[in-house]
Amino acid sequence: MAEGVCIEVEGSIEPSPERVFRYLEYGGSSPAAPVVRKLEGLVPKAHVLVQPKVLYQIRSVDEVVDLCKNDVPAPIQGAPFLAFGLVTVGPAIEEEVEKLRETGRLLDSLILDALGSATVSELCEQTAYRVFRWAEERGSNASRAFEPGSGSSSWPLESQRLIFANLQAEQIGVELTPHLLMRPIKSLSFLMGIGAEIEQASMPFSCQGCKRLGCPYRYEPSASSPYGH
Ligand code: SF4
Repeated sequence: MAEGVCIEVEGSIEPSPERVFRYLEYGGSSPAAPVVRKLEGLVPKAHVLVQPKVLYQIRSVDEVVDLCKNDVPAPIQGAPFLAFGLVTVGPAIEEEVEKLRETGRLLDSLILDALGSATVSELCEQTAYRVFRWAEERGSNASRAFEPGSGSSSWPLESQRLIFANLQAEQIGVELTPHLLMRPIKSLSFLMGIGAEIEQASMPFSCQGCKRLGCPYRYEPSASSPYGH
């Protein structure tokens, strides 16, 4: 059994202010009022520039392309289903960020960049919650999301190849470079395991387990409800 979905998201994706602050490296605190005002002024521009697109594919393991033993993170080895996810907000926002930087508008550039990163992160989380619901509807469990190269995943960047082998990334205009970088830059990919024997994650994304305790982007949401997103 396989389920593939390619979605061009209609309407705007609204990342929470906390998420944007995190990408501005404010951690759990808020920026000064002038920065907040500048941020609020750039939100409409970000809405115009982001082109959110989602692609995910849930495959039974015997349908997974290029899967070798130990290719998936230890907690989901043996999962009967794997979910591959890829999201992007397109190239326009990063082009505008670069234009602002080149013309010396550094604060605008930084804030717009953070808005783009927070939007793609929000989109990624929403997509992972779709996988949670897919599993729940079938009386099954879903793991957390593993991102290739992420400090909390302990899953090597080379794993991008497995994800891209199982998705038609060109459907949403994303490509993987020979150096395993995604283009457009503001794209994120992930893998999740699904199965009755898999421990149900309380949330799909968290930096829990990453050793970089001082990382300004650290994100450890509290687990109130697994589907309360
Ligand atoms: S703490 Fe920083 S480096 Fe570690 S997983 Fe989180 S964002 Fe990545």
